[in-house]
Amino acid sequence: MSLSRREFVKLCSAGVAGLSISRMCHPGVLHAMTEGAKKAPVLWVQGQGCTGCSVSLLNSVHPRIKEILLDVISLEFHPTVMGSEGTLAVEHMYAVADKFKGNFFLLVEGAIPTAKEGRYCIVGETTDAKGHHKEITMMELVRELAPKALATVGIGTCSAYGGIPAARGNVTGATSLKDFFEHEKIKTLLVNVPGCPPHPDWMVGTLVAAWSHVLNPKEHPLPELDDSGRPMLFYGENIHENCPYVELYDKAQFAPTFTKPGCKAELGCKGPSTYADCFKRRWNNGINWCVENAVCIGCVEPDFPDGKSPFYVAE
Ligand code: SF4
Ligand code: SF4
Repeated sequence: MSLSRREFVKLCSAGVAGLSISRMCHPGVLHAMTEGAKKAPVLWVQGQGCTGCSVSLLNSVHPRIKEILLDVISLEFHPTVMGSEGTLAVEHMYAVADKFKGNFFLLVEGAIPTAKEGRYCIVGETTDAKGHHKEITMMELVRELAPKALATVGIGTCSAYGGIPAARGNVTGATSLKDFFEHEKIKTLLVNVPGCPPHPDWMVGTLVAAWSHVLNPKEHPLPELDDSGRPMLFYGENIHENCPYVELYDKAQFAPTFTKPGCKAELGCKGPSTYADCFKRRWNNGINWCVENAVCIGCVEPDFPDGKSPFYVAE
C-alpha cells in the first residue's frame, strides 16, 4: 500500500483535530518511508546551529524516534545520534554519497560559515591522498555533497535563512543554504523546513512527501513550495488569521501580562507576520503552542531573528 497525495495532505492537515501527522501515521506512511529509504538514504550534516532541530526530531512521538531511526529511514550519517565517530564515520558518509550519487537526501542543520574559508566550523577530519591529516569545513562538506544529492533539505531556520548565526553581529559569514547554493552554482533541489526548531511533523512530513515522490513521481508530485522554499502544506497559513484570540484582537482586548487573558499583540506577538500551522498542529505532542503560553516570535520567517526583534515589543 502506498500513500496517495490526497491521503498525505489529509494526514498533514489532520492537526485541525489536534492530531499530529506522526500520531496519524499508519502503516501506509511507514510503508512509503521504508520503501523510499531503500532507494534513498539520508545524510544529516550539522553546521552552525545548536542541535535544537535534531532534538525536536527526537521528540517525534508517533512513530517514535526509535522507529524512525531503526525501521523507517535509512539514516546513514548524523553527528549527534550515530554510534560511530571520527574518520570511520566520515569515510562512510562519503562512501554513501558516492554509492548513491543522485539518489540520497542531504539534510542540513545549521548555517554555513563562509568567513576565513569556513574555518569557523570544522565538521570532521580525514587524510588526503598523501596521507596528511585534513580538517573538513562545513563549506567544503556541503560543496562536495550537495551536488551529488537527489535533493537537499534545509532543516531549521539556520540552514534555511541563516537564522541566529547570521543575526546582527555575525562575524563568521554565516549564510543560508540558498545563498550558498547560488554562490557555488549548485543546482540541486532545495526545500526549506524552517523553525527554531522546526516541528517534528514538518520534518517527518516533508521527508514522507519527498520519499513518496521518489517512489512514484507521477502519483506524488512534490508539495508546492512558497517563495521562501517552504512546503505550503505546513507553512501556507497565517498564524494571526487562524489564532483563537483573533476576535479579542479585533475587539482590542489585549493581555497586559502573559498570565492574563486576551490577545498577546501588545506583548510582542509576531503572529500577524508569521506563516505556519502551529495554531492547529500545536507542539509537545499537541499539548500546547507558543501563543497559548507566551508569544509567537516568528521563528519560521526569513527575517528571524533580527526582523522579529525585540521579541516582547508590539510590532
Ligand atoms: S534553527 Fe534554531 S533550533 Fe535549529 S539549529 Fe538553528 S538555532 Fe538551533
Ligand atoms: S495572540 Fe498573536 S496571533 Fe493571536 S490574535 Fe493576538 S496578535 Fe494575532
